[in-house]
Amino acid sequence: MAAAVPRLSSSAAASSSSTLNQPTLRRHKPSSSLPSSLRLPLQSSPSLSHRLTLRSSVPSLRLPCSAAAHQVSVFDTDDKPHEQCGVFGIIGDPDAAEMCYLGLHALQHRGQEGAGIVSSDGSALHSVTGLGLVSEVFPDASKLAPLVGSAAIGHNRYSTSGAASALANVQPFVAGYRFGQLAVAHNGNLVNYRSLRHELESKGSIFSTTSDTEVILHLIATSAARPLIARIVEACESLSGAFSLVFLTADKLIAVRDPHGFRPLVMGRRPNGAVVFASETSALDLISAEYVREVNPGEVIAVDVNDMLIATSYLLTRKPRKSCVFEHIYFGSPNSIIFGHPVHASRYNFGAALARESPAPGADIVIPVPDSGLFAALGFAGTSGVPFKQGLIRSHYVGRSFIAPNQEERDLAVKLKLAPVEGILAGKSVVVIDDSIVRGTTSSKIVRLIKNEGKAREVHMRIACPPIVGSCYYGVDTPRAEELISNRLGVDELRQEIGCDSLGFLSLESMKGAFGEGSHMLCDACFTRKYPVTAPEPLAAEVGDEAED
Ligand code: SF4
Repeated sequence: MAAAVPRLSSSAAASSSSTLNQPTLRRHKPSSSLPSSLRLPLQSSPSLSHRLTLRSSVPSLRLPCSAAAHQVSVFDTDDKPHEQCGVFGIIGDPDAAEMCYLGLHALQHRGQEGAGIVSSDGSALHSVTGLGLVSEVFPDASKLAPLVGSAAIGHNRYSTSGAASALANVQPFVAGYRFGQLAVAHNGNLVNYRSLRHELESKGSIFSTTSDTEVILHLIATSAARPLIARIVEACESLSGAFSLVFLTADKLIAVRDPHGFRPLVMGRRPNGAVVFASETSALDLISAEYVREVNPGEVIAVDVNDMLIATSYLLTRKPRKSCVFEHIYFGSPNSIIFGHPVHASRYNFGAALARESPAPGADIVIPVPDSGLFAALGFAGTSGVPFKQGLIRSHYVGRSFIAPNQEERDLAVKLKLAPVEGILAGKSVVVIDDSIVRGTTSSKIVRLIKNEGKAREVHMRIACPPIVGSCYYGVDTPRAEELISNRLGVDELRQEIGCDSLGFLSLESMKGAFGEGSHMLCDACFTRKYPVTAPEPLAAEVGDEAED
């Protein structure tokens, strides 16, 4: 029979700090040193060799639909796809937790709903996780104090579902099983999560979260392979979809990237010899780590804390590389190198190509939709000769301000975030550069803002990527296909809907040409619906819903 699952109140779930002592099978009961831990039998078999201890078992805390449906947040009006997580790992550094904290700061743009760090002191793992920004989860040094040791992994989480509010879904996850403790942080999305979970549950596994990442821990715990690296390889061979992973044990840091290489993962080294893994090089820069190279698609890299030896192997499964082009369009930090290309240069080149492909003759100025349209606007201006101006000022201090959903107030939500500069815009024919259009809900408000408040004469929208017609199943939060406006409207219909004087998108061919070397190895499924991994299953949150029935 399944063990009873104690439930934590929502207030108790606001943060979690645990010192996770080395578990042994003889200590298979909740201990005072594990305030939020549960030991869950991985299989219904009484065999002790199939037990896995998950750090937290807080049930999903879901916002009641009725409470959420009548509110619009400023955050939700940005009409962008959203990255789902950033990962970081470091080993061989006396200040591992502090470095991890800084690394997560540099990756904050990849997830704002929760953050966590797990450290290793060489014999036990220590965990602090919480809801909110890195600065909210770790408001002062005292929060880092429990995270002792010279190795650590960290995670920033993004999610729009109610389950995002559950502390149980905030990573890194920590599990105790028959060989010790194991922590994992995951960026990506597993498309075969449903079938893997069903298979594991049919054998008796009990899941504590609605996250697809938890299946990875169960697969590792049930693997008969030896040693740990072989178990991780065997588990990852079962996964389909996108996964850039960092694992931490008492003495090892392990990085794994899926065979397609959907999501980025890089390796670096600090001057003191510490080895670092991160979603983006911006995290390396902040801690003065030198960029060494990408973790290759399908590669498994393990670093031992005792001798700092690096062992590399590969998953047996080989796939054509399909790295997410949206990392260059929108997600990645402009100061990062992603898939071997500087992000700022890609965006500049996309804007330059857009100027050649879809010029705006007679325009007076080029302005970006800040911040993500900045480099593309510079490229457009540089190529077209039309002067670049900052005609919109973005407020960086707007949080989740909830407002009533009538049209006027929805426009106010955008105005809270973007302020037009009338002195720059008034009377001008303006080219507005944005990185993408998803639902189309924000573009019309921006046009109204520039025309009505900024008093521009004409607005010519130029989008530095092709029309988005497909949802993403590989770790990016996009609306369903029917909600994507380019699925419903052609370019001229969309222009009329938005209310601009002209509208142009960058073509796929021009985008790939502007990206340059390696463009044939990019995933472009949200523009083409040619999915590298087919038959995507319902996402993790949906599985959680079903599991509760
Ligand atoms: Fe990136 Fe789009 Fe492919 Fe998703 S479908 S991985 S967002 S290119």
